[in-house]
Amino acid sequence: MWVESVRVAKNWMESRLKGEDGYSKYMDGEKTFIDEEKIFKTLKENRDPKPARIRSIIDEAIESKECLSLEDCAALLNVKNEELWKEIFQAAGEVKKQVYDNRIVTFAPLYCSNYCVNNCLYCAFRRENSVEIRRRLTLDEIRREVEVLAGMGHKRLITSYGEHPLSDVNYIADTLRAIYSVKVKGGRGEIRRVNVNAAPMTVEELEILRDVGIGTFQVFQETYHRKTYSEVHPPDTIKGNYFWRLYCMHRALEAGVDDVGIGVLLGLFDWRFEVLSLLSHSIELEEKFGVGPHTISFPRLRPAANTPFVQNSAYKVSDEDFMKFIAVVRIAVPYTGMILTAREPEHIRRRVLPLGITQTDFGSKIGIGSYRESYNKQEAKIQQFLLGDTRELDEGIRWLAEMGYIVSFCTAGYRCGRTGVKIMKLLKTGREKIFCKLNAILTFKEYLEDFASEETKRVGEELLEKELKEVKDLVSERTYEKLIEYLSRIEDGERDLYF
Ligand code: SAM
Ligand code: SF4
Repeated sequence: MWVESVRVAKNWMESRLKGEDGYSKYMDGEKTFIDEEKIFKTLKENRDPKPARIRSIIDEAIESKECLSLEDCAALLNVKNEELWKEIFQAAGEVKKQVYDNRIVTFAPLYCSNYCVNNCLYCAFRRENSVEIRRRLTLDEIRREVEVLAGMGHKRLITSYGEHPLSDVNYIADTLRAIYSVKVKGGRGEIRRVNVNAAPMTVEELEILRDVGIGTFQVFQETYHRKTYSEVHPPDTIKGNYFWRLYCMHRALEAGVDDVGIGVLLGLFDWRFEVLSLLSHSIELEEKFGVGPHTISFPRLRPAANTPFVQNSAYKVSDEDFMKFIAVVRIAVPYTGMILTAREPEHIRRRVLPLGITQTDFGSKIGIGSYRESYNKQEAKIQQFLLGDTRELDEGIRWLAEMGYIVSFCTAGYRCGRTGVKIMKLLKTGREKIFCKLNAILTFKEYLEDFASEETKRVGEELLEKELKEVKDLVSERTYEKLIEYLSRIEDGERDLYF
């Protein structure tokens, strides 16, 4: 059975690598937008930057909210003085505040299948990990998982799949339809946006996902450094093809998937190199498509069952460097959402949130089928890696509210077409902030009414009061009145009101 499935997967893999390569047409001959030589040279040439230069880079970044140049970004990365780093951290917080205010978006991951034809050295789903228990959720099982998640109050999911014929684009499209179909609590519990983290696809496949209403399409390059990339992704796998992956967001944007999410897996190579590469990727997408990445992710390597590579990696990123990474990315690409996951434990989440994080997950379970079922001892063998923070959504929301963050469950922007190029413009001019603030207040209120524990409701209402006072000075009298009217209609049972 296993031998047969390996053979089927091998044939499928070979067929996917045939035909048009999916990247040459975006390249300038052999040249790609990740210019390793230039990145190393820029890092070298901007060593020992003077404090005055750093301060002027920071001031200009806060003022313009445009992407940094590679040179300025390299200068920030090369700062040695810890006092100056404190100023960079503060500036990152300021950029976040100006673009996104105190909003945090939450989501939960939904792992649908862990069959995989690839062999990434760091991942427990890799095909050579024979102790991993393989499973693909049926659509009924998906619906049951979503009932649990929507019942907690989640409105956004990120689905995740290994790369395999059993989880090809048709299966992914079916899972999205199944997720959107679930309604609980008389329609108050439902998933309104499904982001997808899956393997790179062709333009035609991405068009299928666009048509079923995919949210953000996320693919992480893992590392932009080619030599390291080929060491951790064996060349006889689909993922071993660096360029097929590097240009997958070009294909997504060509297919009309408006929001794309890029990322790196920290711990594979020098984090400073990865920052300049993420910046180069963002600039490339903006130049070619008029829109940069919707989100940037930066998971740090976590222990994974039967995956010794993780312990032995030479490029592990310390907590201090993790903070520096986040702050510089925040300043370098100011309009992009930054995702921090529950891979990180609570004390790290607390430290890095103020540096510019816009999205984070709670109540996450990453075993296949583990929202509904309990795996107990087996658990480690059916998940991709181990989580650092397993707090439930209610507790997470209360924790954030106590620190002054309002959780937004808003998905209105997407439904009003405020995606892609449009949302980038609004974010850059700061106009999105007002819409988002109002919608955050409304969806937060809905959450408190429908799903919160007594304790969270109490803390949440206090935060809402503060928010309303702030908003009053920011919007017209008419808008404020409308907001108050909507809040009272929510208390009376109406839902899904938005600006
Ligand atoms: N199979 C898809 C792919 O490779 O693009 C989906 C990948 S996986 C569900 C999502 C991400 O998890 C990967 O892109 C990788 O960055 C991250 N990941 C894999 N192993 C990890 C580990 N041991 N610790 C932390 N993150 C990990
Ligand atoms: Fe498969 Fe993705 Fe894991 Fe690589 S990271 S082994 S492609 S699931």
